[in-house]
Amino acid sequence: MKVGSIEILPVVDGTGRELATGMLNRPGVPDAWACHAEQLDADGVLVFPLGGFLVRSGDRTVLVDAGAGAIANDRYTGGRFLDGLRGYGVAPEDVTDVVFTHLHFDHVGWATRGGRIVFPRATYRVHEADWAHFVTAPDALPGAVRKLAPLAPQLELFGSDGPIAPGIDARHAPGHTPGSTVYVVSDRGERALLLGDVVHSVVELGERDWEAWFDVDPAAASRVRNEIADEVADTPDLVVGAHFPELAFGRVITAGGDRMFRAV
Ligand SMILES: [Zn+2]
Repeated sequence: MKVGSIEILPVVDGTGRELATGMLNRPGVPDAWACHAEQLDADGVLVFPLGGFLVRSGDRTVLVDAGAGAIANDRYTGGRFLDGLRGYGVAPEDVTDVVFTHLHFDHVGWATRGGRIVFPRATYRVHEADWAHFVTAPDALPGAVRKLAPLAPQLELFGSDGPIAPGIDARHAPGHTPGSTVYVVSDRGERALLLGDVVHSVVELGERDWEAWFDVDPAAASRVRNEIADEVADTPDLVVGAHFPELAFGRVITAGGDRMFRAV
């Protein structure tokens, strides 16, 4: 995908599986997924990619999120991320920036391995509210602290919106997590929004009142999700979530009063 002169490439790490009704639903409407059965397998499971995006902008080689890591359990499998990068001709030492949409395990898997930084020359960037929530809070999960604390020497936290690389802007979109961030890639009048888990499933770009079980603050998450979807609706802006099918971009369109996602 090209946005002006900036290239955005999906980097697949593996696959996640979640019972759809346990992950996303419309409160008080148990069979809300019935209208979106095409998104699910025969057992009502949402199968979705894990990974991140490679953004090449000028002399910067930026990763937006870093997959789930070398895990394999009955719901999540990862392990292909570095091979995916290599397929694009990118070695770990070529990466100049790793920017996180948020710090859930399936976005930071290749940040470090065994306490060692995976991308040795990169500056790692994340919103300060997520670092506080996942790493420095007294009740932070030990697994997250073990994975993320070794980043400290190469870490730059940000607390306000703005550019983090040429043509890439951070935009705070709290709700899913306190520091959830959308990255807006723009060049020559074109824009693409990397939504992270502000939107888990394409279904949420249409449905205004669904809630995700994983959202730390469901009301805030819903508000920011609808704000962004309304902002880009019926514009040329491209959007992609961190777990959209095939990590493929699309646009938000409206038809007959309904809002929906259409892949490009
Ligand atoms: Zn995720």
